[in-house]
Formats: sequence, structure tokens, C-alpha cells
Amino acid sequence: MRILVLGAGVSGLSCAHELARAGHQVELWARERQQATTSTVAAAIWYPYHVEPQARVVGWALHSLRRFAELAEDRARGIRWHRGTELFPSGHAAPDWIRTLPGSRALETGRLPQGFAQGFEFDLPVIETPTYMPWLEGEVLKLGVQLRVRVIDSLRQALDHCTQVVNCTGLGSRALAHDSDLHPVRGQLVRVAQRGFDRFWFDEHRGEHPTYIIPREHDVVLGSSAERNEGERLTEPAMLRSIIERCARLEPGLRDATVLGTSVGLRPARSAVRLEPESSPAGRIVHNYGHGGAGVTLSWGCAQEVAQHFA
Ligand SMILES: Cc1cc2nc3c(=O)[nH]c(=O)nc-3n(C[C@H](O)[C@H](O)[C@H](O)COP(=O)(O)OP(=O)(O)OC[C@H]3O[C@@H](n4cnc5c(N)ncnc54)[C@H](O)[C@@H]3O)c2cc1C
Repeated sequence: MRILVLGAGVSGLSCAHELARAGHQVELWARERQQATTSTVAAAIWYPYHVEPQARVVGWALHSLRRFAELAEDRARGIRWHRGTELFPSGHAAPDWIRTLPGSRALETGRLPQGFAQGFEFDLPVIETPTYMPWLEGEVLKLGVQLRVRVIDSLRQALDHCTQVVNCTGLGSRALAHDSDLHPVRGQLVRVAQRGFDRFWFDEHRGEHPTYIIPREHDVVLGSSAERNEGERLTEPAMLRSIIERCARLEPGLRDATVLGTSVGLRPARSAVRLEPESSPAGRIVHNYGHGGAGVTLSWGCAQEVAQHFA
């Protein structure tokens, strides 16, 4: 089949990969190539953070986890496993699937930092997007996908070119698919120098903003903020200071770490991921957007389901 994929973030590239691998003739159009997308802002760690619908998300996430585990065998792809801790305050029970994560074990009460009721340690892959995204784009090109930098104003423009379309335009779908449920949730990040930090930490259930530490090979990413409906890619000094302070409470050695830089991105949030076909006399669009703060985590699972629509 001839298929046009829209979007060159992690969703579009993963879909293009799976469709081309299945033998389809795939073209990909995107306003920006991978290096300028939200996907490359993400640190990114595998974790289905605040994303719905849970019944489908768990399957997509676990499929991706298996795929990242295979891909991690070659370090050049930028995927590394780390052990770390997730903390839960009282009133936030850990989800059941946390016990099925590799190496998962509950922390004894005596080992919990003050203010937390429950904690788990497990092993997760960190997908270092500055390495992984160019690698993924390269694989897609090797499979023969034609990539063109092109902005579209309507999905009709895409259907006029090709009757089978996959829509992975992230926040772009707000206008393209007239979807007012889709909204930006701004996330600010601080990158500090690597000084032997190799554990991740999540404290994402207290307060307004998630706190996390994600170790990478050459830096450590400290997060974050969750600023609903903030559509400007701006960093704010007060928020960046608060991120460092919150992270240093979990890992005191970070208090005097050397700041290498900051970044900001807009999570494409929605009440639930939209992964469904939409048919019209002009053709068929399979939508795949609205992954919020978990697009990397869900990427291979969603791409597999998109490809099943063309099987
Ligand atoms: C601070 C931060 C931290 C994050 N951390 C994590 C993490 O640790 N783990 C995780 O799994 N996820 C994380 N995320 C979420 C993740 O980055 C997103 O869910 C993911 O990038 C969404 O990917 P996407 O391909 O759907 O969209 P995008 O990456 O936004 O790509 C959209 C593509 O569509 C194109 N496009 C849009 N409109 C048009 C148009 N009109 N015409 C042509 N092309 C168009 C764009 O140019 C782009 O190529 C984080 C996000 C942020 C902001």
C-alpha cells in the first residue's frame, strides 16, 4: 500500500518504520525533522506518566519496553538501563503493574525518605533522545521511506496526495484535526554535569509539578514542570531553581552540580491518546497523537497497532 505518515517525532518515525518494515511504500511529511521536535526534548525514560486510557496504555508501554530492551543491546542507539526509585506519598497507591517491572521490589518503610508512604525500586531503559532520534530517523531512511519537510494546513491536503494517511502531528492535530481536547502541558528541564549519578528518581505524585532525575551517559536531566495550557516554549528562572531544589532533596549531591543547560517542550496532552481510524470518501486517516508525557514510552506499541490497521 502507499501510505503517507505525517510527523517526524518519535510517533511518526516509529510508525513509518513499522509500516515500511511490513513492506508498504511510505512517504513522511513533517514541518520539522526530529531534532526540532518535542520528542528530542524528552530525556527520555520509559514510564507511562499520566496518560490514558490505562487499559490500552499498559499494553502499548509493555510492547515498547520489550522493543527498547532488544534495541539496548547495541549501545550506539542511545538506550541504557538504570536502576532507580519511585516514591509515593500517602493516598497514592502504586499501580499493580509496577510489581512486574524488571527487578521490581518494594522499599522497606525504614528506607523511605521522609514524607513518603511507599516506594519501589526497579530497572528501566533511558532512551537518550539526542542519540536515539537521529538513529531512528536513519533506520527509517534505510528502509526507503521518502522524508520531506513540508507543512500542511489541513488533513484534506494529505488525503489529496495519498488516500491512506497516518496522522502523528502531536500538538499540530489541535488545528489539523480540530481537536480542542488536545492541549499543551509545558515541561521545563535542567541538564547538569554527570559526576557518577547512575540512579533515576521519580517523585511525581506530590504537589503541582513532577520531580525526577534521569541519568544519561554525559549529563543528568532534572525535571520538571507540568504547566497546563502554557503554549510558549519559555524557561523561567524561578521554575528552574525549584527543579534543582526539588531534585537535590532526593539526591543531595545535585545541589552544587554544574548546570550545562536548560530546555523546554510542550507535551501533547489529551484526556486519552487518540489512536483510531477515520474514514471518508477521500480516504482513510489513522490518528496517533495525544501521548502527553509518555510518547517515547508508548511509541513502539502504538506503531504496532497503527501497522495492524494496514495489515
Ligand atoms: C519536558 C518533557 C519531558 C518528557 N519526558 C518524557 C519521558 O521521559 N518519557 C516519555 O515517554 N515521554 C516524555 N515526554 C513526552 C514526549 O516527548 C511526547 O509525548 C512525544 O514527543 C510526542 O511525540 P510525537 O511524535 O507524537 O509528537 P512531536 O514530537 O511533537 O512530533 C510532531 C511532528 O509533527 C509535525 N507537525 C506538526 N504539525 C504539522 C503540520 N501542520 N504539518 C506538517 N507537520 C506537522 C512536527 O513538525 C513534528 O515533526 C516529555 C515531554 C517533555 C516536553
